[in-house]
Amino acid sequence: MHYDVIIIGAGIVGCACARECATAGLKVAIIEHHIPAAATTAAGMGHIVTMDDSPAQLALTAYSRGLWQQLAPQLPASAEYEACGTLWVAADDEEMAGVSAKQSVYTAAGIASSTLSPDVLASAEPALRRGLSGGFLVPDDAVVYPPASAQYFLQQAQASGTVLLQARVIRAANHSVQLADATILHTGKIIIATGADISLTPTLPIQKRKGHLLITDRYPGLIHHQIVELGYLKSAHKLTADSVAFNVQPRQTGQILIGSSRQYGNDDPGLDQRILAAMLERAISYIPALARVSGIRAWTGFRAATPDKLPLIGPTEDHSVFLAMGFEGLGITNATGAARLLADHLLLRPSAIPLTPYLPERIKQEAYAHA
Ligand SMILES: Cc1cc2nc3c(=O)[nH]c(=O)nc-3n(C[C@H](O)[C@H](O)[C@H](O)COP(=O)(O)OP(=O)(O)OC[C@H]3O[C@@H](n4cnc5c(N)ncnc54)[C@H](O)[C@@H]3O)c2cc1C
Repeated sequence: MHYDVIIIGAGIVGCACARECATAGLKVAIIEHHIPAAATTAAGMGHIVTMDDSPAQLALTAYSRGLWQQLAPQLPASAEYEACGTLWVAADDEEMAGVSAKQSVYTAAGIASSTLSPDVLASAEPALRRGLSGGFLVPDDAVVYPPASAQYFLQQAQASGTVLLQARVIRAANHSVQLADATILHTGKIIIATGADISLTPTLPIQKRKGHLLITDRYPGLIHHQIVELGYLKSAHKLTADSVAFNVQPRQTGQILIGSSRQYGNDDPGLDQRILAAMLERAISYIPALARVSGIRAWTGFRAATPDKLPLIGPTEDHSVFLAMGFEGLGITNATGAARLLADHLLLRPSAIPLTPYLPERIKQEAYAHA
């Protein structure tokens, strides 16, 4: 059997790539050694967010968010797409001082946003503690339920002829993919979308970044937006220390998803009670009513972090091997944009935004594939 494209990994990124390639007419196989969408995709928060750490990050998140908006009317109800907006909150005047510069960046990029006074913030989210210095609202950001969204992408890909194979890939290079049972599959191109698992690409400088989340029982109407502290940006930038930040999400069920934490150098998937407690204390410090809610499940997941915090999207030195990896905390958001950019590249179509900032060639490596 010969394929145009073999995608390794059926997380949200691999499933989005399969959908883009298959619906464009390519003959696609997607290979998953576990259950589709059960790894980091099932652990993520599903916040579709425009982020401005760098111009390249803003370009990709804004482009990807726009693709999610286009998809929204056709997503199944199980994807729980909700354009609830992101409400960034400023704890003090120092954080609020950065908001006007942030708003200028968003306005220049054509992204709607507004600055909220403390009173308007309090009426937008009455459960927030009093005394906050204001907020920054990005109304068109959204949330989804990631595993159901990935399943939808996979189903669309399968409806366009994609073959899903359950197997572990042990080698991917030079137009062929070797499975653990020694089967060799031939293909025009290979897309490696294995998330935080870099066993096929061991020389890539991708580090696992552990995160905790907790979901509560149902409290409909307690919060209305994805609410994030502006200090989140500082904590997300830390490359070494453990950090927690206030980041809460309203689910359509009335549940509240509470995040988030970041830890390097901890590959243990178990809950770290110290980090979980710090994360919840932080959330309660912003929304005191959270002290009285019931948490029903807590879990962890691993983000795949690159040194420059941008994903790796595009061809490697082995021109048959492409990467779609290194999405850190933005892989749900950026799955749509990354998949479209890769399909554009494979099909020699023009792209809406340049692929250049995300090309793997910026990270000098002798080999990407495990030879
Ligand atoms: C706590 C937390 C909160 C997050 N919140 C958000 C958020 O709000 N918004 C956002 O945009 N992002 C968020 N993220 C990030 C997001 O979840 C990830 O970036 C995204 O899920 C990565 O998807 P993926 O498809 O690359 O990886 P994965 O979902 O990990 O999928 C990779 C797949 O590859 C398979 N695989 C690996 N190796 C092989 C092999 N050799 N052979 C066959 N199959 C293989 C695995 O089994 C897996 O299914 C969060 C992450 C965490 C941990």
